[in-house]
Amino acid sequence: MSDQYDIIIIGGGMVGASLVAALKKIIGESHNNKKIAVVEAVPVNSESQPSFDDRSIALSYGSRRIWESMGLWASLAPEIEAIKSIHVSDRGHLGATRITHTEEKVEALGYVVENRVMGRVLMDEVGSLNHVDWYCPATIEALEQTEQQVSVQIKTEQGEINLKTKLLVAADGVLSVTRQLAGLGVKREDYKQSAIIANVLTDQKHQGIAYERFTTSGPIAFLPMTENRYSVVWTCREEETSRIMQLPDDEFINALQQRFGFRAGVIEKTGERFSYPLAYTETEQLTKGRVVVIGNAAHALHPVSGQGYNLALRDVAELAEMIVSNEDPGHPLLLAEYRGKRLKDMRRVYRITDSMVKLFSNNISLVGHLRASGLIAVNLISPIRSLVARQSMGLLGRMSKLQRRLPL
Ligand SMILES: Cc1cc2nc3c(=O)[nH]c(=O)nc-3n(C[C@H](O)[C@H](O)[C@H](O)COP(=O)(O)OP(=O)(O)OC[C@H]3O[C@@H](n4cnc5c(N)ncnc54)[C@H](O)[C@@H]3O)c2cc1C
Repeated sequence: MSDQYDIIIIGGGMVGASLVAALKKIIGESHNNKKIAVVEAVPVNSESQPSFDDRSIALSYGSRRIWESMGLWASLAPEIEAIKSIHVSDRGHLGATRITHTEEKVEALGYVVENRVMGRVLMDEVGSLNHVDWYCPATIEALEQTEQQVSVQIKTEQGEINLKTKLLVAADGVLSVTRQLAGLGVKREDYKQSAIIANVLTDQKHQGIAYERFTTSGPIAFLPMTENRYSVVWTCREEETSRIMQLPDDEFINALQQRFGFRAGVIEKTGERFSYPLAYTETEQLTKGRVVVIGNAAHALHPVSGQGYNLALRDVAELAEMIVSNEDPGHPLLLAEYRGKRLKDMRRVYRITDSMVKLFSNNISLVGHLRASGLIAVNLISPIRSLVARQSMGLLGRMSKLQRRLPL
């Protein structure tokens, strides 16, 4: 292993590994010989890798295009379920909206896949590439930067190692140590909610329908999965979480059924439950000198809009495109350009996600009526519905080459 790199990525989870996959085709090419290192805290392929856990992700149609461009979609396809339509409703009110793939003229509005499966496909692809050194398990301890390069000190099982790079990418999650070491601040808002996830079986075939139901204590999503299962994301108030988590399975099923209703049928069986505290965090600055922050390290969003990874993948696609076309991938002017290109999309997704959380977790009756009329209006006015659909499919605004299925 060398100690001099073009790019060092701290964090080889969903987003860090996706960046390596996006860059894969150009790594080691004679005209673009970039040397990359990944520093990852948890042993590769370990069952306890927190990024590749039991959650499921709703991948947008736009993310599918990026996975296709990365040459990975075919490996994922056998283990995904297509979302053919989305049904949005508000508990206690009449309004509802339906968005369908036929109306949007796409094969599917999105796809549901388990994080564990995505992790496996990603690691099979990028875990043993020439020109990519994996330092794992290893964590970042210190960083220092000059105009020309960033020096990082990492802690490995063999002791401390010093590495140098032109570009340092922080992809080490919401508590990013790299972000702190680079001196980048964060804005944080605790939603005082948790997401409880579980896979359930009902007595009906899901037919590719995803349900999002808003309740006064938070939204509940039923996402269609393989083997006719649903991946449930039940957002509840912080103080309810431990009680719901401790319920015996039959009581959990009853409580969920009562809160969600019977649209998806009678719940017959549930798998293991996991809970995640929910907060909004956003890095105040996406870049500093030769350091760029991506993924949850840059923006951790409420899962209500299913946009965290989809947004991060668009960041990855743009960053990869810029890295490829530049001799010095970490030049501060290049990173400033990246920031300029990505901010609009990020801000739009933050705004939509945050308003959904606040508007739909509000039980003031007037707000409830406005919400209901909003949902009815969206359902009746086709251009608005299409706009909402295009946003959730990740097809609004500027598109990177990978998103347009073009080679880098
Ligand atoms: C319940 C729930 C449902 C969700 N549903 C969706 C959805 O439907 N659609 C969607 O797009 N998004 C969804 N998301 C968001 C999505 O899961 C995240 O956006 C995504 O996992 C972020 O990946 P990441 O690689 O940035 O961070 P992480 O997954 O946190 O990975 C960080 C990596 O960095 C490593 N690391 C940490 N510290 C260090 C260190 N000091 N040194 C070295 N390595 C380190 C970790 O081991 C890990 O591998 C959901 C999130 C939740 C909680």
